Amino acid sequence: MENLPIMLNLRGAKALVTGGTLMAARKIDLLLKAGAHVTCFAPELDSEFTEIKKQENFTHITRMPDASDFVGLTIAFGASEDPIPNQLVFDFARAAGVLVNIVDDPMTCDFIMPAIIDRSPIIVAFSSSGAVPVFARTLKARFETMIPKAYGRLAEFSATYRDRVKSEIKTYTGRRRFWEAIVDGDIAEHVFMGKMDEARDLADQLLKDFAADSKHTPKGEVYLVGAGPGDPDLLTFRALRLMQKCDVVLYDRLLGEDILSLVRREAERVYVGKMNKDHALPQEEISELLVKLARQGKRVLRLKGGDPFVFGRGGEEIEKLAAAHIPFQVVPGITAASGVSSYAGIPLTHRDYAQSVAFVTGHTKEDRFNLDLDSLVRPGQTVVVYMGLSSLPQLADAFIEKGASPDLPAAAVSRGTRPGQKVVTGTLSSLPGKVAKAGLESPTLIIIGNVVKLHDQLAWFEENASDEPTLGSGAIQAR
Ligand code: SAH
Repeated sequence: MENLPIMLNLRGAKALVTGGTLMAARKIDLLLKAGAHVTCFAPELDSEFTEIKKQENFTHITRMPDASDFVGLTIAFGASEDPIPNQLVFDFARAAGVLVNIVDDPMTCDFIMPAIIDRSPIIVAFSSSGAVPVFARTLKARFETMIPKAYGRLAEFSATYRDRVKSEIKTYTGRRRFWEAIVDGDIAEHVFMGKMDEARDLADQLLKDFAADSKHTPKGEVYLVGAGPGDPDLLTFRALRLMQKCDVVLYDRLLGEDILSLVRREAERVYVGKMNKDHALPQEEISELLVKLARQGKRVLRLKGGDPFVFGRGGEEIEKLAAAHIPFQVVPGITAASGVSSYAGIPLTHRDYAQSVAFVTGHTKEDRFNLDLDSLVRPGQTVVVYMGLSSLPQLADAFIEKGASPDLPAAAVSRGTRPGQKVVTGTLSSLPGKVAKAGLESPTLIIIGNVVKLHDQLAWFEENASDEPTLGSGAIQAR
């Protein structure tokens, strides 16, 4: 992180600005809104200052500032079009230990000004750490349209309940849920429509209900959520919503930090990762933990790579939950087969090459596959193998033994959809050697079938999209 985002309290503080044009006027506007006393040093002020000049916290001085003007200051802006007064501001401010910002010169600033959406008391700030301000402004513009204009009104309305909520709802979780119910539901809608009396009636009733209920332990629940194969863009809206709502998250090895960072910051994190043959927490214990946490009244997020019901043991977890009468919901995710095949440019079916597709596990028990090879080795079928990296040589042999051509195309994709994605293509006979040589690591998905030929035909796709980070350029290097 380049900078620490903070919101500065400037009520009654002294601020200094140089410059008499639009650039200075914009800063002064914000400073006055934040309650600062602003002194502006500029030979003259242009028409942008008409409104500002009327404000009593504003003083205009026509000379250049000197060192004495910096005594007792909190913040200073060099917003002059002329570099000399700006340099003066910078030197004096530094000497006096005053926070300083020189407009359009981010490198010499103590702080930078983010692009903001002002729905006071809600303020949203966007910053590119000074690197590409236009990104921050573009994002701001997108979010402007998403945050209702009346959001500020909702926050003000909610604040009037703060003391009562604190004294009447006894538990922290109860209080949080009360606020969430306000933001997410009917009450917010009424406030947005300006129906304040109805909103107040509803909120009073809600407060009563919560106050009565908080004597009991809140009901816990479990969200079994598929997080997709790795690229956070492939999360579903529902996954994201529940991720931001949970009290505790149980996650495993497939989950990257970029996805985890989207989970509510205050949620407790429990790693239940499974290494191959080295289970950090046996499945049985994970299921028990889910039940235990939910019984404590928590909203438990069980976050899984891909889809919870595709080699995710989601079925076993919900059996336990159902038996314990714990409410749960399952949120599908993009399974590795579909995410990885898209990002690697290998369609799973194709009119000319494959009319069916099978998802299988390459997991072995005492070195033996538990697979019905007769149903897999078939013309016109794509076979996608999960957890098949270590058993790939035996798997390829088994296919060939069952009559598959040693020249049948096959691919291995590691870290699919993530930075560093690698695609290695070959045939049943050549792939194991190529994969070993390329040093592919887990997670790796194996795709067997004639559709793999399309990867080469579709290679233009990767080359032409090389600035799209999700299409790892590793794919081309590793081939
Ligand atoms: N429930 C998950 C699968 C869990 S099994 C899903 O629906 O995707 C774990 C296996 O999934 C890994 O061994 C690997 O074969 C595959 N896998 C998961 N994510 C992957 C990724 N990003 N790239 C390649 N393979 C992946």
